[in-house]
Amino acid sequence: MTGRTHDLAAFTALSYVLVTIPPEKISLATALVAFTANMVGGLAPDLDQPTAKLWHDIRGGSILGKIISPLLGGHRFISHSLIGVILGGVIARVALDMIGTVLLVDMHIVWWAFMIGMISHIIMDFFTHDGVPLLFPIPIKFGFPPLSVLRMKTGGIVEKSFVFPILIFINGFLYYTNYQTILTFLRHLR
Ligand SMILES: [Zn+2]
Repeated sequence: MTGRTHDLAAFTALSYVLVTIPPEKISLATALVAFTANMVGGLAPDLDQPTAKLWHDIRGGSILGKIISPLLGGHRFISHSLIGVILGGVIARVALDMIGTVLLVDMHIVWWAFMIGMISHIIMDFFTHDGVPLLFPIPIKFGFPPLSVLRMKTGGIVEKSFVFPILIFINGFLYYTNYQTILTFLRHLR
């Protein structure tokens, strides 16, 4: 799955949660930081490969990526597992609490946005050829359909011409059918 698709999937998951359980009170700053955290969460599990989109987006990231990715055990290892998601959540919580002392945003919402992105990543990779080692350290990679040849290839035709447009359609559908909820949400931003 490419970084672009993961970003869109993370956003789609966030949109779904937003229209299902819209936050009562949220500041514009919190919304913006949460949106960014959601994108970062959506890409975070792929920090296990030096070529990851997130590494390209930060200065000196390519060097950092070469150091950190082997520590995570190489591609699709611990960062693509339940333990990895829990660890990522704990690390994000600690980091956000630290940032929260200087940045006045609702870090609880930001943390959830990050987690939604991260979980969406694992779900999306579930449908790819390689599958995900969900129960790491048990060395079995899971995926759907169970037969890996039937799953899609990263950056392949199925992802580009099927998954990506479908995600855009889902967003359009969510925003169209929950127009009133979104309006109320935007009106309460301050
Ligand atoms: Zn991945």
